[in-house]
Amino acid sequence: MGTIHILDSLVIDRIAAGEVVERPASVIKELVENSLDAGATRILVQLEDAGLSLIEVVDDGHGMEAGDVELAFAQHATSKVQTVEDLDVIDTMGFRGEALASIASVSRVELTTGTGDGPGVRLRIDGGVNPVLEQVAWPRGTTLRVSDLFFNTPARRKNLKKPATELRHATQTVLDYALCRPDVYIGLGHGKRTLLAAPPVAALPERVHQVFGAQVATHWLPIEGRFGSTTISGGVTTPEHQRPNRNDIRWFVNGRPVFDYRLAHALVSAYESLLDRRRFPVSVIFLELPVQDVDVNVHPRKAEVRFAHPSAVYRAVRSAVRESLARHLPPVRIEPRVDGGTAAGAGARIFQFDRSSRPSASPPPMGADAPELPVDGWIVSEGTPAAHADVDSDVGTAAVEGHISGTAGAIRPLAQYANTYIIAADRSGLLVIDQHVAHERVLYEQVLAQIEGRGVEVQQLLVPETIELSAAEATVVEAQSELLESMGFTLEPFGGGSWAVRSAPAILANRDLADTVRALIGSLAQGVGPEALDEARHDMAASIACHAAVRANHPLTREEMVRLIADLQRCESPTRCPHGRPILVRVDHADLERRLQRH
Ligand code: ADP
Ligand code: MG
Repeated sequence: MGTIHILDSLVIDRIAAGEVVERPASVIKELVENSLDAGATRILVQLEDAGLSLIEVVDDGHGMEAGDVELAFAQHATSKVQTVEDLDVIDTMGFRGEALASIASVSRVELTTGTGDGPGVRLRIDGGVNPVLEQVAWPRGTTLRVSDLFFNTPARRKNLKKPATELRHATQTVLDYALCRPDVYIGLGHGKRTLLAAPPVAALPERVHQVFGAQVATHWLPIEGRFGSTTISGGVTTPEHQRPNRNDIRWFVNGRPVFDYRLAHALVSAYESLLDRRRFPVSVIFLELPVQDVDVNVHPRKAEVRFAHPSAVYRAVRSAVRESLARHLPPVRIEPRVDGGTAAGAGARIFQFDRSSRPSASPPPMGADAPELPVDGWIVSEGTPAAHADVDSDVGTAAVEGHISGTAGAIRPLAQYANTYIIAADRSGLLVIDQHVAHERVLYEQVLAQIEGRGVEVQQLLVPETIELSAAEATVVEAQSELLESMGFTLEPFGGGSWAVRSAPAILANRDLADTVRALIGSLAQGVGPEALDEARHDMAASIACHAAVRANHPLTREEMVRLIADLQRCESPTRCPHGRPILVRVDHADLERRLQRH
């Protein structure tokens, strides 16, 4: 008996649905694209249960004729492509004609549509079978309601992530379309909450304001340029606005939102040292390439593209962003060194970004515009240089016995250098301790100890601090409120995009509250399952520690240094910060003597 047979169309649809419809966000993407293709000027997306029980997309586009409605749900039914040649000049979002068929096969769909000319039609179809059509009074436009996604494919339903994660993907999808179409009204609601209500605006910067809020909008730098066959437009945030993750780095290729890790790398590299470690800008960048230079057809959801000349595209991105940063941040003139020892001759300008406006600027390089040795701490007491031999005999209060690996015996602070490093000595040599990183480690372990013990010490804020959150951030706060509260943060909606921070961990002492909250939201945005809870707590502790720790460029008293070193020596891992940065470097006494030829 033959066992090979042609699959019936329902099976084919469900298989195709596996590629096109992965999660609620993929349904939203297809429906919003269809609405845009229909010339809608107003698109409203309403979700229930992160889109799992309902995704509704309402548009005012051209609608469908009664006769086309059933056909729209047939596999490879599209009004957008007719010939093979058409595939090369696609200017619509959709073109495969399989989205509606795929979505209908794994959910319950109700489509109501009208052309504004005569009555409209409503079609209901459950799991892709037994369509029921009726005539209804309906204005121009189309409404699709997709309920109970994956009700008939339990395995796929089980593959979904937590609702919070699905909602984040869904939100991101809507925001992407909002960003690439500022001319269209885009609304997004989840249950009773409005996550986005963005009336049409003239240009991207205003849309950026609507989507990301005032903070990002005030730090927005437009970018523009043509590099070979790649045209680049959009914008990025200045280095003053940094985020703890890449979530808000958005790419659009020929008008389509896409995902590409390497593009993000090109972008970040354009900032060079202007971004702190593991900090990222917000960016919305549009690339326009000739159709033959980019293949949008490599991915079933068209979420990734393949460039014919990828490195040229990455170079173009880097150049465009660099140029824009250079235009907006005034270069600093660096005088040639008095001894003429540098390559820069008289009058030469070494190009550098202005660092003076950075919040925690590093000290100016020696020999450049800082001719004097920037030691502004005091030098040890007692008048004796701390020869290694007498460190032990002179322990006193200023030195602490400890167990930092690679150090020997008591560590005694000698001085602060450049308001940033503690120069200290132990029995075997000199130590240069980064005060911020050291303090970060101390606080990190303290927060973790509080979590494991009686819980994080909380401080109620008499005057709540308000912060502005984007729709995506607000979703995370709602989904992770318990976790945030366990770390001491209580946030309440305050109207518009504003939130009030009512309490915070005491350790933070109210410093940098808004930034800390934003960083935490960023690290929670990935969604946190029970298995990752521990990791999330560590991330949050690290983030709190980083914000609460003493900064570089901050003078310390001798007592503060002694105290910090003592605390550090009590740490479980006193040599690395929670992110893995080293806390100290050492110069062995023996090495010093060898180098000074003191043998
Ligand atoms: P594609 O978008 O690739 O053509 P779809 O399965 O997404 O395929 O849609 C099939 C067809 O249904 C479209 O080509 C279009 O003619 C019609 N259609 C779908 N959604 C809408 C809508 N919101 N407004 C008007 N027509 C629509
Ligand atoms: Mg489509």
